[in-house]
This record gives sequence, structure tokens and C-alpha cells, in this order.
Amino acid sequence: MTETRFTPRVFSGIQPSGGLTLGNYLGAMKRFVDMQGSDFETIFCMVDLHAITVWQDPADLTRNTRELCAGFIAAGIDPEQSILFNQSQVPEHAQLAWIFNCVARMGWMQRMTQWKDKAGKNQQNASLGLFAYPALMAADILIYHATHVPVGEDQKQHLELTRDIAIKFNHDFGVNFFPETEPVIEGAATRVMSLRDGSKKMSKSDPSDMSRINMTDDADAIAKKIRKAKTDPDALPSEAKGLDDRPEARNLVNIYAALSDSSVENVLADVGGKQFGEFKPMLAELAVEKLSPISTEMARLMNDQSEIDRILARGAERARGIAAPILRRAYEIVGMVGAG
Ligand code: ATP
Ligand code: MG
Repeated sequence: MTETRFTPRVFSGIQPSGGLTLGNYLGAMKRFVDMQGSDFETIFCMVDLHAITVWQDPADLTRNTRELCAGFIAAGIDPEQSILFNQSQVPEHAQLAWIFNCVARMGWMQRMTQWKDKAGKNQQNASLGLFAYPALMAADILIYHATHVPVGEDQKQHLELTRDIAIKFNHDFGVNFFPETEPVIEGAATRVMSLRDGSKKMSKSDPSDMSRINMTDDADAIAKKIRKAKTDPDALPSEAKGLDDRPEARNLVNIYAALSDSSVENVLADVGGKQFGEFKPMLAELAVEKLSPISTEMARLMNDQSEIDRILARGAERARGIAAPILRRAYEIVGMVGAG
């Protein structure tokens, strides 16, 4: 159904909720670049409406949004070939999200692990927006009838919810209007873990800066963070099976494999038997080699904010060209007067 009726189209977003991390780069952005220029139309978004589901200092939000745009371009997203914009400038996202708030069920939302993780023990004090986050995310995707969404492993559950919302909308209104979007979760680093705790995802909002590598970190900071990364005392195994029950070792090998466009098996064939004292400097050198051209270009782009703002405004205009007719049709299906 999806294959025949809907244009192959990729949508994905990143929150300007802090600086970009190595997890965002390997799990999301690097893979966006791989999909650009393939058989898909590609749409990428700085999801500022998502970011404010937890407190953001306004000046930081502004800066982080521009820096994220610079990150997309520095990593290889071409704003001509892809559509690149910030979410708040395409109001159709929030408008469709309201309809989806009325389609999604409380029970579905309460099961979301991101909600449980981010709200923590104090759910009563979390924002309503944080609870509704996945319905807005479904709207981000479905307002473009996107067929494929490249994301990290942590977003798998939200993609399943997106499909549930599309199916329920189609069923409730007796239409075949929204596609059943496919998540694309691929590669060696779909879940990069914290450098301090192998059971926790690396996140830009983690309070500990030592837990992550930021795209803007310099060579010394990267080397220091990798040197101090938590590991175990054993040497590296020669086969992937040997990483079972060694989450920190697995994480560093996954990062190495993803940065070098290789597989865990190939990396271990080379480095099996080495101690971390030898492997960590290799990893640091590789990370600096791959990340420093991106951070240098980000800094260069950040010198011309009016150019960044111009790119975002142009992207929003192009995005609205796709989103507006889809919203109008959704309103019409729901029965709203004036939408037809
Ligand atoms: P926050 O802590 O504010 O939620 P984040 O680092 O989780 O920030 P998001 O903006 O929520 O980043 O996610 C953007 C994209 O990056 C998503 O596709 C997500 O799956 C991916 N991603 C985030 N963290 C990781 C990670 N540690 N490993 C792989 N992919 C990740
Ligand atoms: Mg996140």
C-alpha cells in the first residue's frame, strides 16, 4: 500500500535542546546524509516545538537552533537538495498534532518509555507537552506523508505509535489517507551509550558533559573524554560474541565501527586482543579525524547567522508547500467547514 500510493519520502528531526552529540551524528545525521540523493525526497527539521517540552532558555534555544542548522549542513545535508527548516515555522505540524491528540489514546501515551524516562518520578510536574510529544512527532512525519524515518533505536516506540495513529485515523474516517511509515534503524551505532554509564543512552540533555562527545568538542576534549570513558579491565575480544555483558566495551567498538564505516566484526578482527590503553587512543584519533572537519565547518557557518536564517526561512516555505494541502485534506476528512 505504502509502496504504490505514496511518494518515497524521508522525514526526520533533531531537537535544538543542546549541542549535537556523537550519538545524534552516528544514529541520525550521518544516516540522513546517506539517504539524501537516493530515491527519496528528503525533509529534515530542527524540532524546536519538541525542545520546549522541557525548559529551554530562550537565548539558548535560538542559538542551538542555528547551530543545529549549521550542523546539518556541515555534516553534508544540502539545503537545495533536501528541505531544511525549523518546525515552529511550519504551523501545519502543530495543527495536525491537535487532531492526533484526539486520535491517540491516553493508554498509548502512558506506555511511552521516553515519557517515563524524562518525566521521572515527578510526572505530575512534567509539562503536558512532554506527555503529548509522540503525537506531535506523528504529525511531523505524517504531515508530509513521509514513508521512511531514519532514527536512533530510542525512537522506535514513537514510530510504532505513529503507525498506530495513522491506522486509527484511516480506520475511524474510512480512508486510506496516511501511510504506515517505516522506521529506518540501521548501522553499527543506532544506540550510542553514555561514556560514563553503559546502560544509559548518550544524550545532549545529560547533565554530565563527560557522558558525551559534542560535535563542537576540540581534539583535546575528545581525547580526554575517551580516555576517561568507563571500561572493564579485560582485553578486547576477537569476535562480537565476546562483547556480550560488556556494554561499555561494546559501545566503544560500535562507535569505532560506525565512524570507520565498518562492521563490529571487521573492527574486532583488527583490534581483538588489544587493551583499552591501546584502543582508546586509536578511537580518539579516528573520532577527531571524522568530527573536526564538521565542527570547523559548523563554526564557519555560525559566523553568518543571516545566511542560516535565510536557509531556514526558504526551507519552511518549501515544507509548507507540501504540508498545507495535506492539512487541508485532513481537516476536510474530519469534517471541518471551510477546509474543502
Ligand atoms: P534529548 O536528550 O534532548 O532528548 P537527544 O540527544 O536524545 O536529545 P534528540 O533530538 O532527542 O537527541 O534525537 C535526535 C535523533 O538522534 C533521533 O533520531 C534519535 O534517535 C537520535 N539519537 C539520540 N541519541 C542517540 C544515541 N545515543 N545513539 C543513537 N542515536 C541517537
Ligand atoms: Mg532524545
